[in-house]
Amino acid sequence: MTSSNSSAVRSSAKHAAERIQQHLPPSNPGSLSSSSLNLPARASLIAPGGAPISHSSRPKDRPSSSASSASISASSPSTRRSGTPVRRSQSKDFDDDNDPGRVRVSVRVRPRNGEELKSDADFADLVELQPEIKRLKLRKNNWSSESYRFDEVFTDTSSQKRVYEGVAKPVVEGVLNGYNGTIMAYGQTGTGKTYTVGKIGKDDAAERGIMVRALEDILVSASSASVSVEISYLQLYMETIQDLLAPERSNISINEDAKTGEVSVPGATVVNIQDLDHFLQVLQVGEANRHAANTKMNTESSRSHAILTVYVRRAMHEKAETGTKSRDKEAKPESLGDKGIPRVRKSKLLIVDLAGSERINKSGTDGHLIEEAKFINLSLTSLGKCINALAEGSSHIPTRDSKLTRLLRDSFGGSARTSLIITIGPSARYHAETTSTIMFGQRAMKIVNMVKLKEEFDYESLCRKLETQVDHLTAEVERQNKLRNSEKHELEKRLRECENSFAEAEKNAITRSKFLEKENGRLELRMKELLKDLQLQKDQCDLMRDKAIQLEMNLKNTKQQLETSAYQEKLADASQVYEKKIAELVQKVEDEQARSTNAEHQLEEMKNVLSNQQKSIHEQEMGNYQYQRELAETTYTYESKIAELQKKLEDEHDRSNAAEEQLRQMKRNISDRQVLSQENEETNELRRKLEELTQIYESTVDELQTVKLDYDDLLHQKEKLGEEVRDMKERLLLEEKQRKQMESELSKLKKNLRESEIVVEDKRMKEDLPKGSSESGALTGSQRSQGLKKSLSGQRATMARLCEEVGVQKILHLIKSEDVEVQIQAVKVVANLAAEESNQVKIVEEGGVEALLMLVQSSQNSTILRVASGAIANLAMNEKSQDLIMNKGGAQLLAKMVTKTDDPQTLRMVAGALANLCGNGEHEI
Ligand code: ADP
Ligand code: MG
Repeated sequence: MTSSNSSAVRSSAKHAAERIQQHLPPSNPGSLSSSSLNLPARASLIAPGGAPISHSSRPKDRPSSSASSASISASSPSTRRSGTPVRRSQSKDFDDDNDPGRVRVSVRVRPRNGEELKSDADFADLVELQPEIKRLKLRKNNWSSESYRFDEVFTDTSSQKRVYEGVAKPVVEGVLNGYNGTIMAYGQTGTGKTYTVGKIGKDDAAERGIMVRALEDILVSASSASVSVEISYLQLYMETIQDLLAPERSNISINEDAKTGEVSVPGATVVNIQDLDHFLQVLQVGEANRHAANTKMNTESSRSHAILTVYVRRAMHEKAETGTKSRDKEAKPESLGDKGIPRVRKSKLLIVDLAGSERINKSGTDGHLIEEAKFINLSLTSLGKCINALAEGSSHIPTRDSKLTRLLRDSFGGSARTSLIITIGPSARYHAETTSTIMFGQRAMKIVNMVKLKEEFDYESLCRKLETQVDHLTAEVERQNKLRNSEKHELEKRLRECENSFAEAEKNAITRSKFLEKENGRLELRMKELLKDLQLQKDQCDLMRDKAIQLEMNLKNTKQQLETSAYQEKLADASQVYEKKIAELVQKVEDEQARSTNAEHQLEEMKNVLSNQQKSIHEQEMGNYQYQRELAETTYTYESKIAELQKKLEDEHDRSNAAEEQLRQMKRNISDRQVLSQENEETNELRRKLEELTQIYESTVDELQTVKLDYDDLLHQKEKLGEEVRDMKERLLLEEKQRKQMESELSKLKKNLRESEIVVEDKRMKEDLPKGSSESGALTGSQRSQGLKKSLSGQRATMARLCEEVGVQKILHLIKSEDVEVQIQAVKVVANLAAEESNQVKIVEEGGVEALLMLVQSSQNSTILRVASGAIANLAMNEKSQDLIMNKGGAQLLAKMVTKTDDPQTLRMVAGALANLCGNGEHEI
């Protein structure tokens, strides 16, 4: 390229650049990304006749801001072919640190080794380092030195980490952001190139070199699935590329893309690196192979160049992109117009451990032929030439002269970020080599690359993605079509069904509405009825409520009444009442007992009266019955007679009517005949007949009158008789009632009498022997005797009353009764009376002794004998009666009794009587 056409290109490029600015968003004016993407619009910017890597020196006075026009003027043909706009690389003053495209150069001094420490002890240092101001002073001779500025100055004590961060880290970051990068070590053999770049640091992690550290950083960043890391490791020796990962591949060719001008080594083994350990293994293998190859070829490793290529591929996502943007301000990836097209950043990092830069003795003293030596140095020499050309802004850069310069085409004057570390030894012995190395570095610092984001549309993955989408959508469309068709059919079917059901529903609705109208009428009627019923129920309800209120009030009153009456009062009253009642009952019993004897008499009398009355009733009944029968017969006769008479009367009445009719008829005839006067005789006859008839009629009427009177009489008699019969019946009923009353009274009296007998009997039993018997008293308990005494006193009182009311005489009279039962009862009463001293006199006076003795003598009844002897025994307690008894022969009678009866009780009574008779001592039996 000549300077004459460069100005023409410059002006056209400027014009084009202005045009582009109009299409770019204002935020990205002249950004790198706008020129780095493979957009067709950029093709027009490329000047014709540009070299694959254009190298032109920029005049120092030219402002760096005009880089775009400079780059365009230096565009290479290869750039044009590839369609990728590449700004022309340029050399510039290394003072300008702001240009990210400038090749950065650092210097590192190796520490003195043992030998050097000895030999150089007397010599002054060759270099003086000023790391603070990033300067290195090289001693020219004993009196003068020259100062050189570098991007970084590392002393012999600088750590591997510091070197990595100063030299390699910015480049590694660039690679991760999609920029190509190159890290290269240049220097004399033994100055520490391999140590700086390729030290694995297996035993000491602090010694790890740039390769390991760079991969470590890349792999950390590549931990996400969207980044892939691959490496190849090659050795270049004597213009032969050997694969260090597959040593059998010993002559690998370099491929250059005709369109893009990109250089590649297709034959090299590419290993996908998973992690750092994996990389270390691979690197070790490479190192081992390098050593083995050098041994085989009888060479030194210092003669070969080792090139590690790291391929980083990052698929761009929104998130990743955002992260990337924030990390790298330079990187402004083009996002315009991509509309979801996937993008990928493919960047490449070259780490090159160059062969020693010292001059090889062309004489071949080290065992190599001159020709060989020429080849050994070719690549390095060529690199030097290229660097020189680039630094000087030469129009021709001899890139194609060696394989090394071809491989490093992008690193110097290309689009990569390049960092060069030059290593120097401290020894003054290697003054020339050190100076040469420093000068190499100084020249390299002048080179400015046009860094470019290696981002492109990932059409492959886009294509795959789109194909998948198309397939998916096609299937979906088919499915949808099918679904739509079936839905259509379904809807049509439903529509038909709906139409049918609608018609049906309409019909139903009409029917229903008619029915409802009817129903409505009916319900209205029903409602009215119900309302009426309701009103009725309501009235009833009101009534019921009133009643309930009334009842509640009653209940309340009743409750109050109940509450006011005191229970105790009631109890007291009740007990008093009961006591009274008990007293009354006792009184009654006594009365009853007293009356019992009286009643018996009355009973007898009543019995007689009753039997008489019953007889008369019977007779009356019979008579009544007869009378009634006669009455019925008479009534019947009279009734039949009356009926006959009535019939007769009626007949007569009819006849009289007929006669009257005849009479009237005759009268009419008479009047007629009077008029006619011829019929007078007939009239007289008829008049006679009429008179006769009239007489009959009158007599009949009289008779009827008489009959009627008779009838009335009879009726009157009948009524009278009926009344009599009724009176009789009433009287009969009354008598019947009286009889029943008397019978019940009698049975009551009998019962009372029986009870009294039992009591008397018991008393006797208990007394065993009246008075005189001392044993019986000893047998009874005090309590029992008291109870007995009580009952006896009661009995006695009863008897006394009986005696007063009935009279002893009457009782004694009853003893003489023919009825045995009466006798028994009477003798029992006497015996009881005789137990009382007050009664004894009375009994004796009334002839009781005689009566009893007579009874003992005459009666055969054992009860009579027993009770009578008991009575005598009682009477024998009295002195007067004792005499009387003795006088009347009572003792003999009693003595006879002993032979007459076996009854022990009777015998006891007899014995008691005799004992009492003997008790006064006067009598002797
Ligand atoms: P080159 O690769 O340039 O031929 P080497 O890396 O092989 O040089 O280094 C030569 C020797 O010097 C090695 O033994 C190495 O360990 C040592 N060396 C180089 N640089 C350093 C350093 N900065 N610190 C310590 N030792 C170093
Ligand atoms: Mg080495």
